[in-house]
Amino acid sequence: MAENDKRSEQSRKVTFSIDKSQNFPDWYDRAIEVAKIVDARYPIKGMNAWMPYGFKALKLMLSKMEFLLDDTGHNEVYFPLMIPESVFSKEADFLRGFNGESFIVTQAGETELAERLYIRPTSETGMYDTVKLWIKSEADLPLKLYQTVNVFRHETKQTRPLMRVREIVKFKEAHTFHANAEDAAQQVDEAINVYKRFFDMMLLPYKVLRTPSWDTFPGAEYNYDFMSVIPDGKGIELASVINLGKKFSLAFGIQYQNSQNDYSYVYQTCYGISERTLGTIMAIHGDNNGLLLPPIIAPTQAIIVPIYYAGKEQPVNKACAEIRETLEKSNIRTSLDSRQNTAGEKFYEWEAKGVPIRIEVGPKDVENGSAVVVRRDTREKKPVKVEELSNHIRMTLDDISINMKKRADAYLKERILHFDTVEDVKKEYKERLGLVGLPWCGEERCGRSIEEKIGIPTIGYDEHKGAKGKCASCGNPGKTEMFFGRTY
Ligand code: ZN
Repeated sequence: MAENDKRSEQSRKVTFSIDKSQNFPDWYDRAIEVAKIVDARYPIKGMNAWMPYGFKALKLMLSKMEFLLDDTGHNEVYFPLMIPESVFSKEADFLRGFNGESFIVTQAGETELAERLYIRPTSETGMYDTVKLWIKSEADLPLKLYQTVNVFRHETKQTRPLMRVREIVKFKEAHTFHANAEDAAQQVDEAINVYKRFFDMMLLPYKVLRTPSWDTFPGAEYNYDFMSVIPDGKGIELASVINLGKKFSLAFGIQYQNSQNDYSYVYQTCYGISERTLGTIMAIHGDNNGLLLPPIIAPTQAIIVPIYYAGKEQPVNKACAEIRETLEKSNIRTSLDSRQNTAGEKFYEWEAKGVPIRIEVGPKDVENGSAVVVRRDTREKKPVKVEELSNHIRMTLDDISINMKKRADAYLKERILHFDTVEDVKKEYKERLGLVGLPWCGEERCGRSIEEKIGIPTIGYDEHKGAKGKCASCGNPGKTEMFFGRTY
């Protein structure tokens, strides 16, 4: 059998076997399992064990966020996991919002604790009670902090790895403190820009929506969500940017002394991203062969697969080792798969893991001084001279990123549906299609009434884009477009 025939013959032997477009939930669970991202068999529902490959991708992703936060003057801190009940309950809206889903420690061994301790579902209260001691005068402001911690929420809905979990791993949350309302509002804008840069790097499509006033984060003045859509048509909140105003500083007594020696309460913001981002990357970019990871977070950017023929292993192994060394010197994250499995099995496995580029090296390639480069996104194959390999791989990785972003943007555009009236939605919309947009006048009662009529919850509105038609509820001129959808 010719070398090329042998390659294609072997790669046909194994297939991924679940159609993503027909059965997204099963596809997602299987893709995560085969790629060894997390192990969902951990014996607590909604809490998963992270496996080496998945954890590396998560850390690469978070390192980009760290870079952006450091670059914009945030400093990293760490606060304890447990929050005393007396502190947790200081802000009434927050307590109402999170009380029902918090895990609470009530005893140590057999001894009941004097005060109940909340396992953080998010860190506002625990942090603010102590940070108030750090702020004395205006010179201490702005104070911009972030931490990377696990947070715990007792999800009662069906859990799904990385998307809806009870232990959110490495939640990256920022908290900022400002002298006045303008500075806090400006910080919200900065955070939105940081997140835009981040999600663009992650090749994710999103829409920034302002949450309607009746649905804001507990304890917030207002907030924005970065929304994307999962292939099952559900919206997913990738990040929240929240203006807390003075609600928490009043509840916690966070004050500073101004130049006239008066005390003023600080204004605050907070924002965070989680492992959901990685789940969404996998959900949107994967295909029927498994995952496709953006080169920027792929633990292995190029996998070298030797094509063995009896008696010719030695020169092939030598060429592969040399290629690996060259690519690593060029800072390309490279692995060499010299296991005894068939080439077909290896192709299947690395494709399922979403490695952007495969490099095949057989005896013929060694003779020609070249290697075959295969792109995971287009499956295009190309022989490349060994001395040109580093440059070629770097350029191809860039090209794959551009192609993935373009596809993802087109994908989101198809999943945001714009309608004029409630009747149109009722006639034309089916649940798995995506989010629904309707013109809205800005009145709460109209937002709620549309929500009720179409039976789909509000998500948020696009502040910067006016609406063309008439409010889908009252018929007055629409000020903006309100979006509706089921969400994770
Ligand atoms: Zn209206």
